[in-house]
Amino acid sequence: MNYFCNGLHIVCIKEQHIDQNCYLICCGADAVVIDPSYEPRILEALEQIAPQEILILLTHEHYDHIAGVNQLRQRWNCRVVCSQICSGLIRSPKTNKARFYDRLFIFRPIEERRRIHKIIDPQYVCYADQTFQNRLVLKFHELEIHMQTVDVHSPGSVVITIDHSLTFTGDGWLGDVIEHAGRKILPDAQYRVNRIVFPGHGLPMIPECNEEKNES
Ligand SMILES: [Zn+2]
Repeated sequence: MNYFCNGLHIVCIKEQHIDQNCYLICCGADAVVIDPSYEPRILEALEQIAPQEILILLTHEHYDHIAGVNQLRQRWNCRVVCSQICSGLIRSPKTNKARFYDRLFIFRPIEERRRIHKIIDPQYVCYADQTFQNRLVLKFHELEIHMQTVDVHSPGSVVITIDHSLTFTGDGWLGDVIEHAGRKILPDAQYRVNRIVFPGHGLPMIPECNEEKNES
């Protein structure tokens, strides 16, 4: 799915089994990637962009949100940024939950479980290049990116805001009630006024954006 918000082109690529969202933001010749999963369509989309550099931002440490980091590193020049706590937790398959990931699928049909087993790596680990405590402000090309730690969902969780208008919540907010988001995970007034919210699973809340449904 493509979204066009505030002059930015955002591509949402869904992981097919648990509806996890990876977001690509085209940025000049380069790209920002938030929460890369193992979904092969992420690589296909990036091949079309052919970036010189990729800035990878992680909302939190869980396997479904980090499983594509190493694949991207193999092909492109990547810089991975996450909270300091997240960076410690992604280094172990126990704390990034890769070791337990298949448990999510125990009630799925056997064919689906077989497919998932071929994709996932229960020993998966990755690492970050840049970390922060509490808060980080980054410039990437013309984008201004704010990352703020939040006390929801998991110890390493952050909320990411781009250009003061787009908010990427990871798994801290998955519902469709903005008051919940405002109270629970968007502590700063700056985040509260954002009306465009991209969650870690499910559908974005995008009242001011144009959608283009040329991709599932
Ligand atoms: Zn998740």
